[in-house]
Amino acid sequence: MVKKVLLLCLLLGAVVTSQLAQAQQHSEEKAVSLTDELIAITPPPLPGYQDTTAHQTYRGTKTIRYDVTTRGMITADMEEFSRLAHETLNDSRGWSRMGLTFERVASGGDFTLVLSAADMMTSFSALGCHRDWSCNVGRNVIVNQDRWLGATVPWNAAGGNLRDYRHMVINHEVGHNIGREHESCAEAGGLAAVMQQQSYDLQGCTFNPWPLPSEVIRRAE
Ligand SMILES: [Zn+2]
Repeated sequence: MVKKVLLLCLLLGAVVTSQLAQAQQHSEEKAVSLTDELIAITPPPLPGYQDTTAHQTYRGTKTIRYDVTTRGMITADMEEFSRLAHETLNDSRGWSRMGLTFERVASGGDFTLVLSAADMMTSFSALGCHRDWSCNVGRNVIVNQDRWLGATVPWNAAGGNLRDYRHMVINHEVGHNIGREHESCAEAGGLAAVMQQQSYDLQGCTFNPWPLPSEVIRRAE
């Protein structure tokens, strides 16, 4: 359990192939040494959306408010970022299937969606974020601008497209914010879970930027 929590997001991002083994080793080292800090920065799940095992019927809706900001030197089109993020969050293929509606507000939302320059990623957490990855720290859902603009080397090499990567990274990181943990490929040739670290390794699964039915567990009121 602790190790799963520790590894949240650390591996979501790009590595050049030659650095893959090194990056993996680095993350494992971090997982061993940063227990206290990462527990401290891991956000609590939103109330009512922690249970991923009980197959219950959800009978209500919930509005989650979020604000959007940036950190560092941004070259990406922010209007496009904001629009695609909002469309992704409210898409009928996404977390909205849990009865969630995502409403953008000017400030003070339930979480803050950040597009950050890669060299500013560690300013959110020196040890919990990495300049190559996106991450989720406390109330901040942080998308790494390098990933937003270019996906990852393994993703591109496997034939993934940028639009799907953008859906995936938003759904994955917001998935952490609503209490979801990493998943593994359940069946070779099947769709990957959106909480699988697809940008790192498909594990024999196929690209899937949207939550699987098994990830969209509706919770009884
Ligand atoms: Zn993750």
